[in-house]
Amino acid sequence: MSYVLPAPVTPSVPVAGRAERFAVRRIFCVGRNYADHAREMGHDPEREPPFFFSKPADALLTDDAPLPYPPLTADLHYEAELVVALGHGGSDIPVGQAPDHVWGYAAGNDFTRRDLQAEAKRLGRPWDMAKGFDHSAACGAITPAAALAGPPDHGRIASTVDGVLRQQGDLSQMIWSVPEIVAILSRHVRLAAGDLIFTGTPAGVGALSRGALVVVEIDGLAPLHTRVI
Ligand code: MN
Repeated sequence: MSYVLPAPVTPSVPVAGRAERFAVRRIFCVGRNYADHAREMGHDPEREPPFFFSKPADALLTDDAPLPYPPLTADLHYEAELVVALGHGGSDIPVGQAPDHVWGYAAGNDFTRRDLQAEAKRLGRPWDMAKGFDHSAACGAITPAAALAGPPDHGRIASTVDGVLRQQGDLSQMIWSVPEIVAILSRHVRLAAGDLIFTGTPAGVGALSRGALVVVEIDGLAPLHTRVI
């Protein structure tokens, strides 16, 4: 195959303890997957099935790179999230087989232009420009599932801003578990190796100023540091 212009670079994420990187195909995100965060956003978590949105793969921010404060917002928010990296894809994946499709896990930050999201919600418009801006998908080094004692279905997830604790929850508080998310998402679209899924954030989201350092910590995974510049 030859192209009229050079082919774009394949986005990728580092792998803990390895020189090889994880090549990324698509980035999916789950909305409102912790009851306390759904409530803080004004929704009833008991009544809503999971819903999904996407970020472009080239919106990745990796290797603890700084985040340039994005344009067209005055309300940039952090969202600490467990990221699932798929090693196998498929459609209509049964919940019981979903764990076999996961290659690894990472700490992530679903950066959000909250003011643009609020406007999109109010006007019934898509979330793309609130969620999928450049560098909006921050992802720490991926730890292979094989290197973990078990699937991260429980354990602390937290974020700090300039050393102050802002979010603290437990992975067991997710409304939809990782296997359920993979299974349900695979009914919507065919999943494939290289897909990342951001699995939602606990309560305590808030705004970031230029110069702030936000750190996402998840038990057993590499922490994710992002300086807003
Ligand atoms: Mn999120």
